[in-house]
Amino acid sequence: MSNETSNTSRRRVLHGGLAILAAGAAARATTAAAQEKLAQNLVQYQDTPKDGAKCSACVNFEKPNGCKIVEGKISPEGWCVAFAPNA
Ligand code: SF4
Repeated sequence: MSNETSNTSRRRVLHGGLAILAAGAAARATTAAAQEKLAQNLVQYQDTPKDGAKCSACVNFEKPNGCKIVEGKISPEGWCVAFAPNA
């Protein structure tokens, strides 16, 4: 194998390895993004109850002002389309 052919082969192996690393990083970034909370506007969050339903009665509510799936400050008196009543 000539030096030029050997260098080309090494470059191909190196590029292949970098592509695999990049794919792994992208997969990890996608997983991290999936773990991020939803923006309030995406779930039509409002800081008042709707038809008697409110955050303090939702399985996702986290005292005193949080939510497992929606980002930002959440009022116990609020509501969003992801409301799921406590059993
Ligand atoms: S109603 Fe929406 S914002 Fe409120 S606790 Fe439930 S999921 Fe979170």
